[in-house]
Amino acid sequence: MPELPDVQVFKQYLDATSLHQKIKEVQVQAPEILKGVTASKLKEALSGHAFESSRRYGKYLLVQLDYAAVLVLHFGMTGFLKYFKDMEKKPGHQQLLISFSSGYHLAYDCQRKLGEVGLYEDEGSFFATKKLGKDALDIDFNSFKDILSASRASVKSALTNQDAIAGIGNIYSDEILFQGRIHPKKKARRLDDNALRRLFEVMKEVLAESIEWRADPDNFPDSYALPHRRTDRECPRCGGKMKAEKVSGRTSYFCPQCQN
Ligand SMILES: [Zn+2]
Repeated sequence: MPELPDVQVFKQYLDATSLHQKIKEVQVQAPEILKGVTASKLKEALSGHAFESSRRYGKYLLVQLDYAAVLVLHFGMTGFLKYFKDMEKKPGHQQLLISFSSGYHLAYDCQRKLGEVGLYEDEGSFFATKKLGKDALDIDFNSFKDILSASRASVKSALTNQDAIAGIGNIYSDEILFQGRIHPKKKARRLDDNALRRLFEVMKEVLAESIEWRADPDNFPDSYALPHRRTDRECPRCGGKMKAEKVSGRTSYFCPQCQN
């Protein structure tokens, strides 16, 4: 599932390919992904206009048009963007296809159709519809500490609660907890100051480094657990067996020897 680092990479991709080009045509293949906007309204809003800039917030990509309109993309479990010219190179499950006057196309592909595409007058009207916490890359230590200390949930659940901290999901919370040597089921409010500080620092580091490596596990160093999300793999730190367990309904991978 695309999380903060993945969506940041999508943002860089969109910025590098799709800004300042006149939009010629818009096709919506899966109207069920549209939130608060109809296919015809979306087509009308985009056609003849251009994308000016973009910004990521949590797991959302907000794309500013050249007038008072913002296209908001959420990538669900399987979503991604693809920019191409030759229609034969189109991805397999494009739900939204934006065609530019240049002859190029931008496809929003979301195989499981769990993503969201919305249109808002401005960022404020989008944020008014969502209860989103501070972005995980922007949050400061005091806010982070307040959120975790007030939580009655496991630390894994606290890190992935988008209402409190936006951007971290199942996969990156596992990596952050692995790097911070904290068991995912540990109660967030039981973390002492040292553990909170350590967790905060590894959260920032894991997110920033993963963006640098283009959120591609193939680029991740051996010290990361992320490419080892299988129980038959060894912990890259101690060589022990990694374990999988459900935590708040999601399968978590962790090292029971290193994380406590
Ligand atoms: Zn270990």
